[in-house]
Amino acid sequence: MIPKVSVEIVEVGPRDGLQNLTQYVETEKKIHLIDLLCQSGLKEIDVGGFVHPKAIPQFQDINEVAKRLPRIEGVKFTALVPNLRGAQNALGSGIRKIHFVFSISKSHNLNNVKMTPEESIEELKNITNLMVSYPETEISIDLATVFGCPFEIVVRKDDIMNCVKRIYDLGVRQITLGDTVGFGNPRQVEDIVTTCRESYPEITFGVHFHNTRSLGLANALAAYQAGIRSYDSSIGGLGGCPYAPGASGNVSTEDQVFMFEQMGVETGVDIRALFKASQYLEDILHDVSLASSVYKAGLPGDQKI
Ligand code: ZN
Repeated sequence: MIPKVSVEIVEVGPRDGLQNLTQYVETEKKIHLIDLLCQSGLKEIDVGGFVHPKAIPQFQDINEVAKRLPRIEGVKFTALVPNLRGAQNALGSGIRKIHFVFSISKSHNLNNVKMTPEESIEELKNITNLMVSYPETEISIDLATVFGCPFEIVVRKDDIMNCVKRIYDLGVRQITLGDTVGFGNPRQVEDIVTTCRESYPEITFGVHFHNTRSLGLANALAAYQAGIRSYDSSIGGLGGCPYAPGASGNVSTEDQVFMFEQMGVETGVDIRALFKASQYLEDILHDVSLASSVYKAGLPGDQKI
């Protein structure tokens, strides 16, 4: 029996979605997209990354984006940071929740953030120290390559649990388990999620699936049955990782919301309002076709196909 407990959808399109596009999206348009996403009822939106503009040119205007975010009661705007400098900039520009990203896999972490996982954990220590001066801010860890690495392929469960322990020991209580390249399968998801939740009940775990091999929603359902209540996804299924060969789009927000709502699991998100954001993306992006099945087909009864 599948329970009916509401879930939270974390929109990562403006960050994970846009970061892999070669086309630069102007600040105006980013803000308008974020506005449309807010109107759908999403309560947490990842708006970009505080990274070096040479590493990801899409985020060269991140300070401007942060400055122009709408103020909406109950909506959290978050940003990705790969290091202490990024955290300083993010918190300094008014972002109240940061996602510190690193990979379980050494090869991917070296490619992605130019540090070993050990060094990233040291960096996390510096960031948690920094955050003492910023009351009412939050940190969540985006753990990448939990379900497989594009370079090392298999990621050992012991390495995952060791990382989770180190994060726990630094006092952080939010972790998102990421399938950066879409290697995960439902049995593996159930296994890792269950071990994480049973070992660290004080930590709130979320999941972040890429739909590279079409198992994104199957993995989301497996995670739901294993007790996860926080899900990343990206409007239109945009997304990828510039430093992970073969990474393609995230699970699309429209599809993920549709799956949960059809099962009677509340997301608080209005799919038709999401379609307005998808439509806008299609209007502003050239040569990009959105991967969301529900957006393409419409809701049951829409007769789009
Ligand atoms: Zn991702």
